[in-house]
Amino acid sequence: MADYKGVLICGELIEGKVTTTTKELISTGRKLSDGLNQLLSLLLIGQNLQEVADEAISLGVDKVYIGDGVPYAESLPERYVAIISNVCKQIEPFIILFGQTDMGRDIAPRLAARLRTSVCMDCVELTIDPDTRSLLQTKPVYGGNAVAVWASENYQPQVVTMRPRASAPAEPDTSRKGEIVPVTVKVDDSKIKCKLLETVKEEVKGIKLEEAKVIVTGGGGIGGSEGFQLIKELAQILGGTIGITRVPCDEGWMPKSLEIGQTGHIVSPALYIAVGVSGAPQHLAGCSGSKCIIAINKDPEAHIFKEADFGIVGDYRKALPSLIEKCKALFAI
Ligand SMILES: Cc1cc2nc3c(=O)[nH]c(=O)nc-3n(C[C@H](O)[C@H](O)[C@H](O)COP(=O)(O)OP(=O)(O)OC[C@H]3O[C@@H](n4cnc5c(N)ncnc54)[C@H](O)[C@@H]3O)c2cc1C
Repeated sequence: MADYKGVLICGELIEGKVTTTTKELISTGRKLSDGLNQLLSLLLIGQNLQEVADEAISLGVDKVYIGDGVPYAESLPERYVAIISNVCKQIEPFIILFGQTDMGRDIAPRLAARLRTSVCMDCVELTIDPDTRSLLQTKPVYGGNAVAVWASENYQPQVVTMRPRASAPAEPDTSRKGEIVPVTVKVDDSKIKCKLLETVKEEVKGIKLEEAKVIVTGGGGIGGSEGFQLIKELAQILGGTIGITRVPCDEGWMPKSLEIGQTGHIVSPALYIAVGVSGAPQHLAGCSGSKCIIAINKDPEAHIFKEADFGIVGDYRKALPSLIEKCKALFAI
């Protein structure tokens, strides 16, 4: 049986830069490696990677494997999983970490199947049990209504995805030393069955939802696209951005790209204001990591009030204008 050791992060790059989620994985990976007293490695695939590899070392990585290839966003899951599984078979890590991102969701389950092991998706906390040295994987279950801690005794390596914003990003320390190791990323193209026909870049105006400190979300209770003017105004005053539930997207009031929840963005702002939102588990799965939730809903029995830190029971058409006026006065706008 293989001697699985260390933690390997499958890193992501956007426009040649290490993503915030990868930096968060580095801080979690560092704690896990220290707990195991083993190495923390990072796999990066792209071009001209020397500078980002140096940055990763300053962030706490011991060994950076760099593969010359196209970044994930311009590649195919089949190609990527082939590259990553080859690297994993060579270095035999005990823990393989992904972000719960498009790449993580695409690759982690396929990789686990290739390596004939288990996968635990969307964890919010990872620790090493000091007695058994097994990986304890904490993840929300039942649509975010409970959390469960999982440990896999029979499968190695352990493939895990971690929810963005579940930990703080690693901080650089340029005195850190590490090793950069080039890896060969040859893939047998005859085995790739999909073809990438086109890549459409989604225009993101303003603050990205995952990075927003304040999000004002409108739900089905807003009743139409006009009502979102008030949502936008409040978000603007608070220096935040807007989100939506599934209903405004299904009804065509707002674009799908703003949807928060199980099938949308997963966010964890300092302040989340949910307006006309019922608090369905599929929506809460995307926002329950918010530091403070304020709900505005005309139904005092709405489930969102069970999750909220503060609540206003009333029609948003009355509540929002007075809230906006108060905020304007407070910020002297
Ligand atoms: C597999 C699956 C995945 C899903 N993924 C997602 C997801 O990612 N994100 C998501 O959001 N949903 C998702 N859904 C849908 C989810 O189950 C809910 O249907 C949806 O979240 C409901 O949205 P809502 O609360 O905005 O709307 P509604 O359920 O229509 O609730 C509207 C709320 O507004 C209140 N209200 C009405 N009028 C006013 C007013 N004038 N002022 C104040 N309050 C008012 C009502 O009391 C009510 O509580 C998913 C469903 C499935 C089955």
